[in-house]
Amino acid sequence: MRYCVKESCVGCGLCVATCPEGFFMNENGSAQAVDGPVEPAWEASAREAMDSCPVGAIEEA
Ligand code: SF4
Repeated sequence: MRYCVKESCVGCGLCVATCPEGFFMNENGSAQAVDGPVEPAWEASAREAMDSCPVGAIEEA
């Protein structure tokens, strides 16, 4: 699965803490999804990060 982070991200860092293999903070202080599909081993935590985002900024791409 691929993910993307919308502009509504408030930079709380929760997704990066939940799934550092799938998300990182960019130079603007917003989260960004890694390029390409998340490795199967990290799929569960990536999905948890999407479900846990307080502003619903993570979507399946
Ligand atoms: S959890 Fe949501 S609001 Fe927080 S950094 Fe990630 S995408 Fe942004």
